[in-house]
Amino acid sequence: MNRILTIVGARPQFVKAAAVSRKLKEQGIEEILVHTGQHFDANMSEVFFEEMEIPQPTYHLNIHGLNHGAMTGRMMEGIESILIKEQPEAVMVFGDTNSTLAGALAAKKLHIPVIHVEAGLRSFNMAMPEEINRILTDRIADILFCPTDAAVHNLQREGYDHFQTMIIKNGDVMQDAALYYAQKAAVKSTIIEQLALDRFVLATIHRQENTDDIDKLQNLIKGLNDINHEIQVVLPMHPRTKHILAQNHIKPTFTIIEPVGYFDMIRLLQHCQLVITDSGGVQKEAFFFRKHCITLREQTEWVELIENGFNTLVGSDETLLFAAYHEMQRKQSDFSLNLYGNGTAAEQIARTLKEI
Ligand code: UDP
Repeated sequence: MNRILTIVGARPQFVKAAAVSRKLKEQGIEEILVHTGQHFDANMSEVFFEEMEIPQPTYHLNIHGLNHGAMTGRMMEGIESILIKEQPEAVMVFGDTNSTLAGALAAKKLHIPVIHVEAGLRSFNMAMPEEINRILTDRIADILFCPTDAAVHNLQREGYDHFQTMIIKNGDVMQDAALYYAQKAAVKSTIIEQLALDRFVLATIHRQENTDDIDKLQNLIKGLNDINHEIQVVLPMHPRTKHILAQNHIKPTFTIIEPVGYFDMIRLLQHCQLVITDSGGVQKEAFFFRKHCITLREQTEWVELIENGFNTLVGSDETLLFAAYHEMQRKQSDFSLNLYGNGTAAEQIARTLKEI
């Protein structure tokens, strides 16, 4: 392959695309980048393009702030007309957002091969929009790049050995990004100094299953408030969470900051004592930076982190959260396990595509 079209739209996809785009370029593969607009604030989008030196998108669809159906539908419409014009050899999508599904559907209906990066992950919770997006995208993708053994097994259990698809375990492109940008972050980010941070816990909350259920959200805020009595809790707040807290007049007592760029996030991950999150990406990044993690969900796609004791699930139970904090804070682990490919995932994608 020499010319592919990549769809991005949400924050985690910028991080993944940064790792893959660089390797595609090294292989001489031309990439047309489409930004759907799903995340649009400067600190949720632009900052990643600048810091991570992601090529500016050729197309920007500016689609955001809509319900799932309307958003996915409008994205499909926009992507379809770009695909008809550009006629790429394949379309690459990342992860599990509406942009992922819209890109995959639009391409597949035009008989353009679909490449899914971060394929095969399952939470087995069909109430999550991400689970619906990833299952449907996998099913119509032609090339599935799986980050973990568990992801490959999930696909095998679903009968993928009998489908006309290419399944490749290549590792996790987010680890490539973490390793590559850590050196730059060390030089460029001053967030630890700016906020005068000493010992602290890094937290993030943005999943719809937590933000859209006000009881759950209240429990989580209470749990973090309690932990903040023992150690400073710092939470870069996602716009959705901010909006819902304001609407419900909930005022956390821990440290809230605006969403940070990737360099600042890396330094926060490097310097914190522990991570508490409901993010998919941040669970892994905790591991990359050798930190234990407490996950504010009932399930995770990153089961190897649980199996090896790096991560624990507490759902939205504030008592469990507080107990897990005490347990994880004391825990010693050997983080040298190679669970995600140690930085070679994007290289494998680019080489594979070049050979096809
Ligand atoms: N991230 C960031 N700044 C923040 C919060 C997250 O740079 O304030 C990064 C994080 O390090 C990871 C990515 O955004 O690389 C994950 O995105 P998010 O948690 O929004 O999505 P998920 O991984 O849950 O899909």
